[in-house]
Amino acid sequence: MLRYDLHNHKGKNVIVVGAGNSAMNVVFQLLNIAERVYLINSADKPNADEISLNRVKDNPRVKILNSTSVTEILGKDRVQQAKILHLKDKKSETLDVDSIFVEIGYVPSIDYLNGLVQLNERDEIIMIHIMLQVLLEYLLLEM
Ligand SMILES: Cc1cc2nc3c(=O)[nH]c(=O)nc-3n(C[C@H](O)[C@H](O)[C@H](O)COP(=O)(O)OP(=O)(O)OC[C@H]3O[C@@H](n4cnc5c(N)ncnc54)[C@H](O)[C@@H]3O)c2cc1C
Repeated sequence: MLRYDLHNHKGKNVIVVGAGNSAMNVVFQLLNIAERVYLINSADKPNADEISLNRVKDNPRVKILNSTSVTEILGKDRVQQAKILHLKDKKSETLDVDSIFVEIGYVPSIDYLNGLVQLNERDEIIMIHIMLQVLLEYLLLEM
């Protein structure tokens, strides 16, 4: 469920902060719109699922910067640059960008599952049985 009007970013350089499923979803939607997408991730590797990551990681328009953080956003009336800190060597660089999307962790609404299914440490549903998959699909349809 995308909450942005991404077509405003046609031909632009953008930053997506985060490297989970939410971030990969935004990056994927931006692939044929933005000129360049920088993915800024404070961890040393992305935590998105393999399918979501594989859809974007080898695209020449995408640059994944692990162990980095946005420290400053610069510009007059609009975003024009962002300062990036490389967390391991403490070096900074400035990227020319037009917009920044922040996707650093939405909390999934799972209360309604109320112990019905097993979750992993990231509160993601663990698929253990075909019947469970059927139940999950039913629950998702009812949401
Ligand atoms: C498209 C999509 C597919 C999904 N598929 C499934 C599924 O198949 N099964 C399931 O159970 N759930 C699924 N989910 C739910 C999702 O996996 C979980 O809800 C997830 O933990 C939340 O994702 P997130 O990317 O918002 O946050 P997180 O997974 O918490 O990721 C946050 C990211 O932000 C980075 N970060 C944090 N702070 C900073 C900072 N200051 N600077 C830079 N980077 C930072 C972290 O390193 C991390 O990469 C899906 C969600 C989406 C949007």
